[in-house]
Amino acid sequence: MESDTASLLIHGARVVSSTPCLEERLASWTKGWEGQKGSGDAVQDGVMDILIRGGVVTAVGSGLSSDGAAIEAGGLTCLPAFCDLHAHFRDPGLTHKEDLASGSHAAVRGGYTAVNLMANTKPVISSRLQVQGILDRAAAIGLVDVHQCASITKNMDGMTVDHLESLGEAVRIISDDGHDVMDARVMLQAMTAASRLGLTVMCHCEDMNLSDTDYRLAEDLMTHRNIELARAAGCCLHIAHVSTEGSMRAVIAAKEQGRAVTCEVTPHHLALTSATSYRVNPPLRTQEDVDFLIRAVTQGWVDAIATDHAPHTTDDKAAGAPGMVGLETAFGVCYTTLVRPGHITLARLTELMSRNPARILSLNKGCIAPGYDGDLVLVDLDTPWTVDTTAFASKGRNTPFAGKTLLGRVVMTVKAGRVVYHDETAPQEERQ
Ligand SMILES: [Zn+2]
Repeated sequence: MESDTASLLIHGARVVSSTPCLEERLASWTKGWEGQKGSGDAVQDGVMDILIRGGVVTAVGSGLSSDGAAIEAGGLTCLPAFCDLHAHFRDPGLTHKEDLASGSHAAVRGGYTAVNLMANTKPVISSRLQVQGILDRAAAIGLVDVHQCASITKNMDGMTVDHLESLGEAVRIISDDGHDVMDARVMLQAMTAASRLGLTVMCHCEDMNLSDTDYRLAEDLMTHRNIELARAAGCCLHIAHVSTEGSMRAVIAAKEQGRAVTCEVTPHHLALTSATSYRVNPPLRTQEDVDFLIRAVTQGWVDAIATDHAPHTTDDKAAGAPGMVGLETAFGVCYTTLVRPGHITLARLTELMSRNPARILSLNKGCIAPGYDGDLVLVDLDTPWTVDTTAFASKGRNTPFAGKTLLGRVVMTVKAGRVVYHDETAPQEERQ
């Protein structure tokens, strides 16, 4: 392990990343995403060296040298480390399922150095003090940068929004994920406050009165409602885990109108259909839905792939708890499902898993270029690997991908120039 201020040279990897955005694009991001379709930016893809000093990328090119540590990465591919917009670390209160430490280890094992944590813990995260407590503990663990969402309604009671005024600057995104805010008047109040306070509202779109009757209509209807409420309030909106054609069409229509709407899709909603019997919310959908979501990804309508990492104990899962773990399989699933069959390029996948989520979280990550955080992931794209849940760093073993063979394996994760994960079983040579 190197200290944060030491230099690290990654030598001879195939480096794949989108190039840094133009200044005006950065500016537009800080004001809020304007609903453009795709980034249209150039891509770098070639064998290069990367030098990190003081935690930041200082040079990318050939023939770089360093008097510090060096990693021989020939045969491996180097991408900007991933950033997850949607993870449940179950801390506090449900730490038998996951905690900040096990979740952080799972994240770096999956190539992630930043995560956005949901607020549906016990107790629910609804105050500045609670958020700061999570951030302090995550920083002490020191593996990933954490953004902690606060709830949209206080303690997720579905009614009270006066806590939003005092959340402070550490909170950028609010979400009642796990539930939607059923009362439209309350959601409008929250969104109006969010607009004034510069908060993004992240919506789990589900009319819970309809879930038992028609789970598709439950999602489609609330996607439309939340988009209209956000328009009326003038706030930035992020739609979580879009799973149906109808919901994605609503997002596309909003983007075409230039609304400040972003969206995420999960790896499992891109890779699996309802033919796989596995309980998750929103549910696995039809082949037509999956085909439409992949088309939306290829056409640039989808901003991010987010895991919705939802660890449960074996007993809770057997009792019907919805969700699956995702951090340690996301890259393999996405590379195998999207890049290998030719739906998108690897560079485009790094936009979905690294760059766009980093922008939505206002992080200086997601590109391999001078000035960006020295957060990288080295992957082996060619050696098939089998998902072994007993090797997971997560406490959760609940995944329908258990036993599946994938391509795209994370070999090493670097955060701020420090190696935070290294798969020692990989054919990898490190020299001082
Ligand atoms: Zn959700």
